[in-house]
Amino acid sequence: MLVSPKLMFENCYGKYGIAAVNVFTMEQVLALFRAGEKASAPFIVQLTPKARNYASPGMVLAMVNAAADLYKDAVFAIHLDHGDESHIKDALDSGGYQSVMIDASHDDFANNVKRTKRIVQNAHELNVCVEAELGVLGGVEDDISIEEKYAKYTNPDEVERFVSETQCDSLAVAVGTSHGAYKFSGNQGLQFDILSEIQDRLPGFPIVLHGGSAVNLQEIKRINNSGGILGEDASGVDPDEVVKSIGYGVVKINIATDTRLLWTRVHREFFRDSPDLFDPVIPGSEYMDAYEEFMVHKFNMFKANGKAKNFN
Ligand SMILES: [Zn+2]
Repeated sequence: MLVSPKLMFENCYGKYGIAAVNVFTMEQVLALFRAGEKASAPFIVQLTPKARNYASPGMVLAMVNAAADLYKDAVFAIHLDHGDESHIKDALDSGGYQSVMIDASHDDFANNVKRTKRIVQNAHELNVCVEAELGVLGGVEDDISIEEKYAKYTNPDEVERFVSETQCDSLAVAVGTSHGAYKFSGNQGLQFDILSEIQDRLPGFPIVLHGGSAVNLQEIKRINNSGGILGEDASGVDPDEVVKSIGYGVVKINIATDTRLLWTRVHREFFRDSPDLFDPVIPGSEYMDAYEEFMVHKFNMFKANGKAKNFN
């Protein structure tokens, strides 16, 4: 069942977190819906411009809708992650999205406001929610690459003005997470003092955490033991800190890197252990099983399990 992220955020604020998961392939889409239904947890399916360019926008959206037909008890929303003006226009014109993100966070404040405001006006006419971003996240993901030295925390003094001028529905903040597998290089984790100041200025307003993957070192080691050469200094967000952030107004936690590492680990180990096989269906099924288990664990961790019934 499709549910607006607005309703999800009203329901979960301060109590549990909504996992927002980036999908690129059929296996990821199916396994996400399986996990959502199994845990009875509401979730957000995220499509990035890269995913839309890879499979084609119509194909990737059709996969999500086909999965929704198969898993009728799944409670979910479809969101365009890190949209630019052209992808947002296309998503709004073609329909099927409950929410879009305009990422103008690399612009200065005035331009970010200007670009975000324009998108909000167009999207709200169609009842589509808008996530905006203030502050700059470091790291590498899809077509985004920001060196750590250019990353900057969200300034709490700017958030009220930004939200009131743009009328965005949720706000992605930079409070210590980054994109990709190498978060927190020489860093100290989530900045709860900043999150707390943001919550004081925007009480009840939905806050979004990008770069919410945990980047489990055991997974990195298994990838490297099966032929990978990932840096073992890779690190993600401490899951306990993510859970704690829910009490500070974080409603949506974005996950992409962890499901990619899982894909890499399952396939590397499969081909290392079965060098005589070449059937994509076999590792594909193993990946879906592992993905489902991983996401059920995340839903439980975010205390979202069993919450789908709140939307019936
Ligand atoms: Zn992001």
